[in-house]
Amino acid sequence: RAKQAGRGAFHFYDATLDRRLDDRRQLIRDLRAAIGTPQLALHYQALYAADGRTLNGYEALLRWRHPTRGPIAPVDFIPLAEDSGLIAPLGRWVLDTACAAAAGWPAPLTVAVNLSAAQFSEGDLVEVVQQALAASGLAATRLEVEITESLLLGHTDEVTGTLRALDALGVKIAMDDFGTGYSSLSYLWRFPFHKVKIDRAFTLHLADDAKVRLIVKSIVSLARSLGLRVNAEGVETEAQMRLLQEHGCDELQGFLLARPVPLESLAHPVAADANAS
Ligand code: C2E
Ligand code: MG
Ligand code: MG
Ligand code: MG
Repeated sequence: RAKQAGRGAFHFYDATLDRRLDDRRQLIRDLRAAIGTPQLALHYQALYAADGRTLNGYEALLRWRHPTRGPIAPVDFIPLAEDSGLIAPLGRWVLDTACAAAAGWPAPLTVAVNLSAAQFSEGDLVEVVQQALAASGLAATRLEVEITESLLLGHTDEVTGTLRALDALGVKIAMDDFGTGYSSLSYLWRFPFHKVKIDRAFTLHLADDAKVRLIVKSIVSLARSLGLRVNAEGVETEAQMRLLQEHGCDELQGFLLARPVPLESLAHPVAADANAS
């Protein structure tokens, strides 16, 4: 009886899994077709200096509006792109589009682009970046790439050369979601990082957890002593902003200050700021 129930459960699970795989394959086909169409767009989220007013630049965040399913979150389709080989053309499109957008912003505003591990495995990432810079005319120093700790795990040899080459071009390198991955502090000195971005999980608990404040404090002091800048992600409340300012973060990012918006929705930020003050 138990065996039968088990088998029944297995059959049920199997059918579900089958549907999921079909679904996944269809979504990959849809994503391939979406590249280069208005279904895919970049939104830009402002990064502010610690004062919460001085604009440093924007992070480019990919958005997919599926024709029948509506908006699909990056966490749901980036992994598909990574597994299916689509991340190479998609990542190239992101770099080209973000650099072209930033070339239209007043200097020295920067644009930050997220990179996937799979883009490093292609072997031509430095050329792809150089082409994006050359085509847009954007100075390399105004491009920042964001990578996560997990990307460095197990890819260290492969990635080292690429990061050094990007650094040599003048491109800035940020460690994204710091403190959540398979944190190895040695990454901070083995790779040419310019910035760490404290994951928003820490920001979220900052106001109500003294231990989190201690962690943020030590991340800031560690980063400081290594000459790195510190961004805090996910700032949603005034209380969080105040604490992050007190802890000495250099840069703030979050819904309190700005949400990611389409390029057309960005005001001429520097001019607007100058008029306001
Ligand atoms: P990320 O690079 O850590 O990006 C920050 C994420 O936090 C974004 O989610 C942003 O919308 C969200 N966020 C910003 N401020 C707040 C806040 O105050 N509260 C909350 N709750 N969330 C906030 P999004 O756009 O859904 O992107 C998720 C992740 O997908 C990104 O995390 C990044 O890892 C990845 N991703 C996005 N665009 C790209 C891309 O073009 N290429 C690659 N490879 N990955 C991308
Ligand atoms: Mg990021
Ligand atoms: Mg992040
Ligand atoms: Mg994140």
